[in-house]
Amino acid sequence: MAKRDRWIEPPASALRAGEGFSFDGFDAGATPGFDGEEKHAVKVMRRRGEDLADLQERLFADGRTGGHRSVLLVLQGMDTAGKGGIVRHVLGMVDPQGVTSRGFGRPTAEELEHHFLWRIERALPRAGRIGVFDRSHYEDVLVARVHDLVPRAEWEGRYDEINAWEARRVEEGTTIVKCALIVSLDEQLDRIEGRLARPDKHWKYDPADLDERAHWAEYRDAYEAIFRRTSTDGAPWHVIPANHKWYARLAITELLTSALESLDLTWPPASFDVDAEKERVAALRRASPDGRAITADGPAPPRP
Ligand code: AMP
Ligand code: MG
Repeated sequence: MAKRDRWIEPPASALRAGEGFSFDGFDAGATPGFDGEEKHAVKVMRRRGEDLADLQERLFADGRTGGHRSVLLVLQGMDTAGKGGIVRHVLGMVDPQGVTSRGFGRPTAEELEHHFLWRIERALPRAGRIGVFDRSHYEDVLVARVHDLVPRAEWEGRYDEINAWEARRVEEGTTIVKCALIVSLDEQLDRIEGRLARPDKHWKYDPADLDERAHWAEYRDAYEAIFRRTSTDGAPWHVIPANHKWYARLAITELLTSALESLDLTWPPASFDVDAEKERVAALRRASPDGRAITADGPAPPRP
């Protein structure tokens, strides 16, 4: 990528996790791969957002003309990690008609009767769409593991199940972009304090969120495990230092845009004779030479 873009290493490689992932030495305030500050990020993001909007429209057009491809952005992170901000600021740059966003909370009674992937499968984006998961099937190896919601033997088996399930989705044409937003404990507490100080944010606050902070060490282990065990070539994890919201948004914009670029989407060719259609337009214009409004009954009748 060109230096003027200020990415000195693309986030797809700078942020990629793998088998050897460890939080030791991880800095949630870092900005890997990006040589710039917030003011630069804002500009780069706006420019890349235009590319993203164009690519999203191509994807949508592809889906409308028989294409089977879709893109799924999986967002994981603790409360206050900024998942909602990603949806607003990154996906907010594209036509909302092409995006389906879905949040996953505590499973309903009906969902609990099914396999943990049942509700996930039903929420997959259709062809031509960008789907966003605000939390996902990974909760079933995060909160489920930290709180022993199912026996260990059961969640242990889920890593392989997830890998196999994602591999099938990729085979069917879904590009999966997995992003985990990691915020330091201090920053999490600052953000929670911020919410408590603002009556307009109280609706987002859940006293249980604070209890989860007491389990932060276990969550770290659980996150480490997903990065080590479910970062596959087909669906790799990107671990995003997210203390700086501007960096997380910029990085995900770049990850999503480059994922769409890799699809090599071309505009679908016309399914009609373009010249013949142009001629029909010209004929209609001739029928109403003085440019009077076309009424619901068709072109206005010629003047007597
Ligand atoms: P929020 O994102 O603020 O709506 O919170 C959603 C809550 O639902 C979080 O506390 C998640 O940990 C919880 N949650 C999401 N998926 C699951 C799951 N599969 N099992 C149990 N809890 C879940
Ligand atoms: Mg919440």
